[in-house]
This record gives sequence, C-alpha cells and structure tokens, in this order.
Amino acid sequence: MTTVAEGIQYEPVIGLEVHAQMLTESKAFCACSTQFGRKANHNVCPVCLGMPGVLPVLNKKLVEFIVLMGLATNCSITSRSIFARKNYFYPDLPKGYQISQYEEPICRNGFVEIDLPDGNRKKIGITRIHMEEDAGKSIHDQDEDTLIDINRCGVPLIEIVSEPDIRSAREAYLYLSKIKQIVTYLGICDGNMEEGSLRCDANVSVRKTGDEQFGTKTEVKNLNSFRYVEKALEYEIHRQIDLLESADHVVQETLLWDADNGIVVPMRSKEEAHDYRYFPDPDLVPVVVDEPWIAGIRERLPELPTERRDRFIEEYELPRYDADVLTVTRDLADYYEAALQPVKDGKEKSYKAVSNWVMGDVLRVANERAIEMDQFPISPEYIGELVTLIEDGTISGKIAKDVFEIMLEEQKSPAVIIQEKGMKQVSDTSEIEPVVQEILGKYPDQVAEYRGGKTKVLGFFVGQVMRATKGKANPQIVNDLIKKSLDAE
Ligand code: ADP
Ligand code: MG
Ligand code: ZN
Repeated sequence: MTTVAEGIQYEPVIGLEVHAQMLTESKAFCACSTQFGRKANHNVCPVCLGMPGVLPVLNKKLVEFIVLMGLATNCSITSRSIFARKNYFYPDLPKGYQISQYEEPICRNGFVEIDLPDGNRKKIGITRIHMEEDAGKSIHDQDEDTLIDINRCGVPLIEIVSEPDIRSAREAYLYLSKIKQIVTYLGICDGNMEEGSLRCDANVSVRKTGDEQFGTKTEVKNLNSFRYVEKALEYEIHRQIDLLESADHVVQETLLWDADNGIVVPMRSKEEAHDYRYFPDPDLVPVVVDEPWIAGIRERLPELPTERRDRFIEEYELPRYDADVLTVTRDLADYYEAALQPVKDGKEKSYKAVSNWVMGDVLRVANERAIEMDQFPISPEYIGELVTLIEDGTISGKIAKDVFEIMLEEQKSPAVIIQEKGMKQVSDTSEIEPVVQEILGKYPDQVAEYRGGKTKVLGFFVGQVMRATKGKANPQIVNDLIKKSLDAE
C-alpha cells in the first residue's frame, strides 16, 4: 500500500511478533497442568512459583510442537539451541525472569505465503520462532488490592517473529490469518485471539516510497482481535505519516491500542534487548534435535491449508472461492471431504453441489448456532447422500431443503427420512398428468394468455402443480407435461 500525503508517497513497513500458546497438557518446564479456567494459583508447583533451588525440566512435547511449526513455515531447524533468561521485574513473574530463547532459537529463516486480494501470492519471511514461557496474571478488579494468579506462569508459548516484509495493514491481517490457519491445522494452538491463545505485537514504520532505509518503528501491543490488528495499524501508519509531514519525527516507543477510542496511546519508551540482561540459563541443558528425530516430526506434518486449498481446486475442480472457504479450518475441510464419500466416484458437478451445501446451509446453521464443525448435528456423509438423492431424482432440490431441516433435528440418514415421511419425488407421469389437467382446467384465462403468446405464465402453472403435489412432483416433468398440453391445440 502506498499512502499519498501532499504529493509525497509513503510506504508502511510492518513486522509482526506473534505469540501462540501451545496445546500441551503440562507446562513448559514443570508437570503442572495448562488447563484454562482453574481456580487461581491451583496449577502451580515450586518450579513455576520460582522457589529457590528448583530445577526446570523441558517439556518434550513443546519441542515437537515448535519443530512442527518450523517445518510448516519452511524454517531451518537448529540442531543445538539454548535457553536464555530474560530478566525483568513484574509482580506476576515470581522468578524475576522469563525462560526464553535469545541467541540460538530453534527455528530460523522460514517463510509463509499469503494470498493477496489481487490473486497473487507473497512470501513473508519468518526471522525466527522460539520457545518461551508465559507470565502470570495481575488481577486489578476483584479486590481493592491487586491479586496475583500464577496459573499461567510457565505455560508454553512459541514466538513467531516475521521479517519486516509486510507492506499494509491488510497484508498484516492476511499474514496473521495464515499463521492462525497453520497453527490450528497443526493442532498445536487453538488460535483464539480473543482468549489470548494467539497474541500479536505489530511493529510499524513508514518511509518515502523508493527509499531504501526503513524509518523509525513503533510497536503496538494489546491487539486481541484480527480486526484490531488491521485498524490499529491503519491508525498508526497515518499517525506516523502526519508526524513526518509536519517535519516532526517518529519516536521509537511501545504503544497500546485503545480499542474503545480507536487510538494508540504511549505505554513506555522502547526497551532494548540489553535492558533484559539476557544470558544463557544455567539450569537448562541445550536442546539437541537430530535429523532422524526431525524426520519423524516431518512425517507427522498434515496437509497444510494452502496445499489443501490447491488440491481442492485441482482434484475437485472447485472454484478458488469455494476452495478458500472450505479450507479455512481443518475441521471444515475434513467435513467437506467426508461429505464427498458418497459421491466420490461422481463427477465434478457433484463435488460442486456438495460444496454448495457445505458453504451454504451447513455453514449458515453452524454460524447461527455458533458451533464448531465437530459439533455439527448432521454427519457429513448424510450431506453427500442428500446430494446423491437429488442427482438421481429421488427428491427435488426444494424437498432436499426440508430433509436438511429434519436431519438437523433427527439424526437419521436422508434416505430414512424420505422413506418415513413419504417425501420421495413423484416422476411417474401418470400420477402427475391428472394434476396438470386439473390446474389447467381451473385457470382458463391464463391458458388463453399462454396461447396468446404470453408464455411466461408457464411458471405460474408449474408453481400451482408443485403446490398441489406438496412439492413432490418432479419439476422438470411437470414443466414438460404442462408445455405439452398447452402447445397441443
Ligand atoms: P526489537 O529489537 O526492537 O524487538 P527486532 O529486530 O527484534 O526489534 O524486530 C522486531 C519486529 O519488528 C520484527 O518482526 C521485525 O520484522 C520488525 N521490524 C524491525 N525493524 C522494523 C522497521 N524499521 N519497521 C517495521 N518493522 C520493523
Ligand atoms: Mg522484539
Ligand atoms: Zn509448576
């Protein structure tokens, strides 16, 4: 994006630091549970309480998860990485330091691809991904004093640091969405920004278009939704351009996004790495991962969102739009593919028909009921069967909508429902013909109109016959029979 201000073009430069909370069962360096919502200070032990003399032990699952992420984002995996102490005082950090990785992170030099609105793809570099632990929580609103909850201390996080390759607030949004998609496909993070499982700090600067050198950056924190990331960046980009335009300069600082007022407010002047007095943690041995072990993790990599999207286009001949929607989450993509089972040896037409049902009625109901796909009341195979039943003429598309509604309530197969409720489509002309004659007899004026050239009334007759047969007559046959009768004399 370039932004024009009084003839000068500016270009934003953005790099994101994303924290993702890992779905391990225990904490990063002790056996305490990571379960959310437990009573305050109940998921704790001497290690995560920062008692003197205790020793942390690394959770192997955390290493597996970060290596999965590194491989999924094309990083090289450092065979020997170390932990560092990041020292700072905070009431909810009893140790007085966070265990993190500083000088030798486990993943480096990767990239992810985002899909730009114009259809092109763009690579966003990943500088590094490292392991660290979360801090606790200060609670200010439950007592006149501040309360401290240590439950979250030691909960494993990975931090994904991007290169300053992002050039607009929109691209930042797309990058973050892609990161969310990847971590949820991998099953290593639930991706919920509102609940803090995915957190993002946005670094942004602006420069005159064409300039080589980056401008001074600020860092915006407290972005707890995708929408805020985009809005806050737009605000901050314009704030910086205004500063430069008024011959002022951008101060390197950390800002907080104030969502209520739609502005950023200064939080503190930017701390530097040396402020943290990083040094290698003497309590933890280096993390050594060898090639065979990494190869084992690589084998567990699932098909990733972009690959799956591309395969949907290729294999099922779906439009790009459908493939994008259907692969947004792994669960939805799984649902779609399970729904294809009954039509699997069918034609591309059936694949598209199943896609229409999933993107249409299925997603509509899931959204209305605010449920995830794994809770969806209709099993996916039934959606595939429903499409098959429409295609072989057992029911009309219209009746199928009714069957769908019944399936939401009664967990039965569409074939059983059609049988039980007598919803089968009538294609037997000898059953439909008398109804056609009755309707034509009932509306002589419209018959005259048709014969006088106003053939549009055909639709009216079809509607009447469909209504008289409670929607069960095969609409194509109804159409043919009416036309034949009307054109006869
Ligand atoms: P710091 O030491 O201030 O934390 P880093 O070099 O670690 O800075 O970078 C943090 C993030 O800021 C990275 O995502 C990086 O891509 C981004 N970044 C670095 N320089 C700039 C800049 N001039 N403008 C925008 N983003 C930047
Ligand atoms: Mg940083
Ligand atoms: Zn503990």
